[in-house]
Amino acid sequence: MKKKIAIIGAGIAGLTFANLIKKNSDYEFMLYEKQESLSLDEGFGIQLSTNSVKILNTIGFNKIDKSKIFHPMGVDFYNIQNKKICELDLTQFNTEEKKYTTLKRSTLIEFLKDDVYTQHLRFGKKIKEVTELKGKVFIKFDDNTNDLVDLVIGADGIFSNTKTFFEKKKNEPKFKKAIAVRTILKTKSELKIDEQRISLMMGKNCHIVIYPLNQNKELNLVCIIRDKRYDPDNIKTLVNKVVTQNSNLEKVFEGDLKSWPLYFTPKILPSTNSKVFYIGDAFNGFLPTLAQGAGQSIESAHELFNLIKDDKAEIQNTYFKERSRRAKIVKRRSNINFFSFHFSSSIMQTLRNFFMKFLVKRKSFVNSYLGIVYKN
Ligand SMILES: Cc1cc2nc3c(=O)[nH]c(=O)nc-3n(C[C@H](O)[C@H](O)[C@H](O)COP(=O)(O)OP(=O)(O)OC[C@H]3O[C@@H](n4cnc5c(N)ncnc54)[C@H](O)[C@@H]3O)c2cc1C
Repeated sequence: MKKKIAIIGAGIAGLTFANLIKKNSDYEFMLYEKQESLSLDEGFGIQLSTNSVKILNTIGFNKIDKSKIFHPMGVDFYNIQNKKICELDLTQFNTEEKKYTTLKRSTLIEFLKDDVYTQHLRFGKKIKEVTELKGKVFIKFDDNTNDLVDLVIGADGIFSNTKTFFEKKKNEPKFKKAIAVRTILKTKSELKIDEQRISLMMGKNCHIVIYPLNQNKELNLVCIIRDKRYDPDNIKTLVNKVVTQNSNLEKVFEGDLKSWPLYFTPKILPSTNSKVFYIGDAFNGFLPTLAQGAGQSIESAHELFNLIKDDKAEIQNTYFKERSRRAKIVKRRSNINFFSFHFSSSIMQTLRNFFMKFLVKRKSFVNSYLGIVYKN
């Protein structure tokens, strides 16, 4: 009899896993999403480095409408006054088949949902109870429906509810005392940046990333600002901390602003149930300062899929070992970036800029810092 898998959560991780299972195996599966529809929030960009594009290509991403995506050639680093410090060439990691890609999150979700939407996706489903029954897992949902499955894949994000049913030890995400503010720019305004590239401006306790989302010249802006408190009703005051450092930025924050408090997973812990696995942010939530959250969601789905498809022995141990090794590499670099992008002292900023100028030109450094992440 075919084995059955329940995937909890239809975000990037859950949908990628579902696509891999649908296109490359004969497992039965169902995706259970707690919302009534998929979140296709327009104002949200995603950067995909080559490690994740390579995996997405195996499920047809290379055939996506090219007008909906962009391939930035590099990253330009500026101080908050818009003075250029140095640049990083991203094409060094590209090949003809896989290129560093930026796009709207909604474009990625639309692509991922296409093949699983009608048959394999159920909305408004939240786990109420789980029990083990004859070597399987019996899941009861709060709308009184149920499912009996061989494996459960927790892909329900950083605040994973699945974990609360299967794990005794609490590993609560921590607030990083920083807030992300996003908007979409129709023009680069008064900034002197190259719209074809990723621009990263570093200021006191904040940094801004601007990048093209598609061929329509829409630019995604995300600004990370350190603050001890998150008050969604007072984003303008928060943004003022950035604008006071460069008045030219006033115009870029005039549009519709969306904000999120930044959380991270303090400790990477294994699943304690041999039939339950975690992927994406449910496995580990990263800071966005290496732009690897979605990429790692895709990678984790792919790693787990390969182990399950081949019915490998010791899947749980092998998955945890490999996933935590990768997650630690990304986590370390995201943390270093978070720390160094936000120096408030001008001496530290000068020192950082000096080292950055030097390091971005060193192939060995770039390869050991980014290549190891992008070339997986
Ligand atoms: C400001 C910011 C910028 C970012 N920029 C980038 C970037 O440029 N590049 C990049 O790679 N990543 C980026 N990320 C990270 C990236 O968006 C996430 O890491 C990624 O989306 C995680 O995917 P996921 O599927 O694991 O979780 P989620 O996207 O959180 O999806 C989880 C899904 O599970 C559902 N769910 C939750 N609870 C339940 C439940 N109990 N039952 C059923 N369903 C449930 C949710 O509704 C949701 O649909 C950024 C993150 C932030 C905050």
